[in-house]
Amino acid sequence: ENNPVTPQSTAATATPFDVNRIRQDFGILQQSVNGKPLIYLDSAASAQKPECVIQAMTHYYHNDNANVHRGAHTLGDRATAGFEGARKTVQQFLNARESAEIIWVRGTTEAINLVANGLAPELEAGDEIIVSRMEHHANIVPWQLVAERTGSIVRVIDINEAGELDLESYKNLLNAKTRVVAVTQVSNVLGTINPVNELITLAKAAGAYTVIDGAQRVPHGSVDVQALDCDFYAFSSHKLFGPTGIGVLYGKREHLERMPPYQGGGEMIERVSFEKTTFNVLPYKFEAGTPAICEAVGLAAAIDYMQALDRTGMAAHEQKLYELAQERAEKITGLRIIGTAEQKVPVMSFLIDGLHPSDIGTLLDQQGIGIRTGHHCAMPLMEWFNIPGTARASFALYNTEDEVNRLFDALEKIQRLFT
Ligand code: PLP
Repeated sequence: ENNPVTPQSTAATATPFDVNRIRQDFGILQQSVNGKPLIYLDSAASAQKPECVIQAMTHYYHNDNANVHRGAHTLGDRATAGFEGARKTVQQFLNARESAEIIWVRGTTEAINLVANGLAPELEAGDEIIVSRMEHHANIVPWQLVAERTGSIVRVIDINEAGELDLESYKNLLNAKTRVVAVTQVSNVLGTINPVNELITLAKAAGAYTVIDGAQRVPHGSVDVQALDCDFYAFSSHKLFGPTGIGVLYGKREHLERMPPYQGGGEMIERVSFEKTTFNVLPYKFEAGTPAICEAVGLAAAIDYMQALDRTGMAAHEQKLYELAQERAEKITGLRIIGTAEQKVPVMSFLIDGLHPSDIGTLLDQQGIGIRTGHHCAMPLMEWFNIPGTARASFALYNTEDEVNRLFDALEKIQRLFT
């Protein structure tokens, strides 16, 4: 299986996917920006939140707010039930063996820093950490920091012009010194879906840990970490229609048990004394301090929302949006799509001759259209393509074909007026 983002079990009760009905759940989309109806095409940076997420969080603060795991009163019990219930929801979403393998973090960035820090004691001078050229900085810099500390070396899987991983380059990099393979499942710039099953199998044969950055994968459906058999998996809530400030690190229990704590403080200890402090059991060992309780409740609501959708219909809808975008893009002379992989999520990075990406972004914003421009936290990838940045339109389940058409109508007009 080449990890296409295909829908998995769709609840028998799910009503057929209807984008107009979905849009009613996202009140924020029903506004004008600069005098035009808002067209939000920046969900890969941060997705909008359905009403049920906002309501779950409001309900929590109106009714249940207290600190967790203190056990002395009713609100504390309710807050704990919501918080730990959310962990269960994530466990099921990822199909982890147990909820103790789900660690709350601030986001993908913190998850990868936690793993890099946790594996550092096992890394020696000359050991190798493999990442790819299409990684987000969040899956490069933590490894560089740990490499500096341990004397290990970061090595890079090459890509081809289409923006796909070069599997031969990967196979050539793997050797007895490879300790970690940390790759993204989906590129935030190119939209490429990487064949992580194959990457993981090869990494395991070489005896390396596997760390999968799932930030851009999870908005398109649930993931099975047991089937992937990766050692670690990370994602952020805010790209999955949940709140900011929370994310998830999945790790296999055996590794999490072995790894040292990431931060020290309350909650992560069993007993503290000046002679010897001992640590709490999983997952709390990695959760120092008061966590993001309301955000966990919000993330669980987002996952429940996603799970209740007709995901076959959702995948087909997203696919249709991308195909339309591609069709329209091909008609614009001088427009170049960066990232033309066979397997893609609906993310389109592009350049237009004679126009700077940031000017494209500003001019589109004047038309109420929000895209992202710049290096997208992937400078090594920009360098490889020899470009300063791109304009990126990322489509989500709530976008419509009409919005895609209006984006390209606007781009044609910009091209006519400014080149
Ligand atoms: N990895 C990928 C592929 C991303 O797209 C992002 C966010 O843009 C991150 C990691 C970092 O996520 P966060 O900023 O939520 O920690």
